[in-house]
Amino acid sequence: MALVNENFLKIPDNYLFSDIAKKVNAFKVTHPKDKVISLGIGDVTRPLPKAVCDAMHRAVDEMSKAETFRGYGPEQGYSFLTDAIIKHDYASRGVSLEPNEIFINDGAKSDAGNIGDMLRHDNCVGVTDPIYPVYIDSNVMAGRAGVLESGKWSNIVYIPCTAENNFIPELPSRRIDILYLCYPNNPTGTALTKDALKMWVNYALTNDVLILYDAAYERYISDPDIPHSIYEIRGAKKVAVEFRSFSKTAGFTGVRCGYTVVPRELNEFTLTGEKVPLNRMWNRRQCTKFNGTSYITQRGAEATFTPEGAAQVQENIDYYMTNAKILKKGLLSCGLNVFGGDNAPYIWMQTPNRTKSWKFFDQLLYETAIVGTPGVGFGPSGEGYFRFTAFGNRENTEEALYRLKKWL
Ligand SMILES: *Cc1c(COP(=O)(O)O)cnc(C)c1O
Repeated sequence: MALVNENFLKIPDNYLFSDIAKKVNAFKVTHPKDKVISLGIGDVTRPLPKAVCDAMHRAVDEMSKAETFRGYGPEQGYSFLTDAIIKHDYASRGVSLEPNEIFINDGAKSDAGNIGDMLRHDNCVGVTDPIYPVYIDSNVMAGRAGVLESGKWSNIVYIPCTAENNFIPELPSRRIDILYLCYPNNPTGTALTKDALKMWVNYALTNDVLILYDAAYERYISDPDIPHSIYEIRGAKKVAVEFRSFSKTAGFTGVRCGYTVVPRELNEFTLTGEKVPLNRMWNRRQCTKFNGTSYITQRGAEATFTPEGAAQVQENIDYYMTNAKILKKGLLSCGLNVFGGDNAPYIWMQTPNRTKSWKFFDQLLYETAIVGTPGVGFGPSGEGYFRFTAFGNRENTEEALYRLKKWL
């Protein structure tokens, strides 16, 4: 008889975006004439940059000939891609990394979930709240979260980020061993300045905290005071793993490519206090459980660093960030309290009169046929907030704003 991992049973069945889809489908059935505009799910809509498609076509041609065919590649990724990442994403910002500190993957979500393989079940986990649900759910599966009591897991330390603290997380009063940070943030669209991030790195250095830093949206940063990588902060290589992705950067949500940085200086501990380098452990983990990202995909990712590729990537980002500006300005002009949207493709809004997030979702859907995401779906501190994405097309974004203005 096989016994199951009962931790999985603790996770509520409903998944935020499937709950939303059900409600939207019900609305469509009863309102067939209304044109629904979705500013809900965080997925890109612009097609892949031409330079990426060209590179992938060439890679397919190579695979079609015996002389240039490639089978299994290195589990850690091809050096043409890790070298390009080191040069363009890090060296250009004064961060030096070695090729064996970068692990190419099939997107940031997998490793953000898998990284816990290396960590004991009894670590205390801290998360900023609201947050990308993967961090908490993967810890629930590993048995680190405790039990769910009125919307909160008993062993997770929630660090609220709300308008009251200007979305800057404050140091926790309880000891934590592992901390998830995501900046620029999904869902709030806010970012951390160098000084604010420095406070956390210093806290981690002093208190032996492992920081799991998700920088999936770094390419959306325009403010020069905001670090793109946690390694721009001195000492961070001793305490932080960084996750990056080509998904939101270059439209790879359906292609699948990202990478994880595990610095060689990063050590964690056995129960008896022996130091263990995480880089070696992660390499072992990857070689056992992962067989690499496809060659074709990695050639596509490499092309985002060529001059044409980088320019085309930037064009898409500018397009989304123009949507963000239009949305933010429009919502502000309606007298709403609106946050984010300057260094991230998300607008985070307080609901009018602090209406509950789901109630506002229903009102908005039934009275304007616009779909957004209820803030409380990202954690208890998201109650009374609502998220719009800037990933829609321009016409829909403008149409949504027109309807919202009329409605409000
Ligand atoms: C979209 C997103 C990712 C990227 O996920 P992929 O698996 O690379 O597509 C990672 N973190 C956050 C916070 C995200 O919103």
